[in-house]
Amino acid sequence: MLHGTVPGCLTLLRPQAAMTALLAPSDHALVLFSGGQDSATCLAWALEHFAHVETLGFDYGQRHRIELEMRAPLREAIAQTRPHWVSRLGEDHRIDLSVLGQISDTALTQARTIEFDAQGLPNTFVPGRNLLFFTFAATIAWRRGLRVLVGGMCETDYSGYPDCRDDTLKALQVTLGLGMATRFRLETPLMWLDKAATWQLTESLGGAELVEVIRSLSHSCYLGERSQSHAWGSGCGACPACDLRARGWLRYQDLVASPLRPSALR
Ligand code: ZN
Repeated sequence: MLHGTVPGCLTLLRPQAAMTALLAPSDHALVLFSGGQDSATCLAWALEHFAHVETLGFDYGQRHRIELEMRAPLREAIAQTRPHWVSRLGEDHRIDLSVLGQISDTALTQARTIEFDAQGLPNTFVPGRNLLFFTFAATIAWRRGLRVLVGGMCETDYSGYPDCRDDTLKALQVTLGLGMATRFRLETPLMWLDKAATWQLTESLGGAELVEVIRSLSHSCYLGERSQSHAWGSGCGACPACDLRARGWLRYQDLVASPLRPSALR
C-alpha cells in the first residue's frame, strides 16, 4: 500500500506514530528535491521517517534556475531543524537533463508568456517530465541500494499536469519494479493535500522553525524572481506558481488563526 497517498490525515496529525508502524528503520529513500516548497516538505517528511535519505535534483534548462542554487542551503537548513535529521541526510545528486529543454517547447524552459490551453493545461507543462524524473531516480536508487522514491506530486492543488496524477505514478511504480526487477516504492506524501495542508504538514514535522526555513528559502516562482519578498516567500507574485503558493499560505494563516485549531498548535 502506498501509505503516503492514503493516510495523509494520519500523517498530518501524528507523523511519527503513524509511520513507525509501517516502516522499518533501515529504510533508505531518495527524494526528488528541486528546491521548491513541495519537494522541501517531502525532504523533511523523508528525514522524519527514513533512516537514510539522499536527494536528487535535475538541471533541465528551467527558467527558474535559481531553484537549483537554493537547493544546497535549503537542504542543510531543513536537516538542521531536528537533531535526529542531521545524521540521516546523505548525498545529494544532480543530473544534467538539459536535453529535456531541447526536446520540449514550453514556457517552463523558454521565454514565453504563461498561458492555458482549452483543457486548462498551462504551457509550462513539460510532457512526461515527472515520468523521466522518477525513471532517472530509480536508476540512481537501484545503484545505491535505495528502494523508496519520494516526490512532491499532488492531485489536490496541482496545475493540471497529468504526470502528477496518483494513477500515473502507481502505474510507473509497477513499470519501474518490473523493468529493473526491483521492488521500488513511490511515495507521494502530498498527493491528497492542498497547499494549506502542506504547510500544516510542514509544521507538524518541524514546527515553526521548519515553516520559516521553507517559507524563506524554497523557490516556487516560474520566472525565477527572488528580489520581491512577500509574506509567503519570494517570487514575482503573478505567475501560476506564485499565485498557488500565495493562496495556500493565506489559507494556512487562516487555519493558524482559527479558534478551532488545537491549543497545542496555537
Ligand atoms: Zn512567480
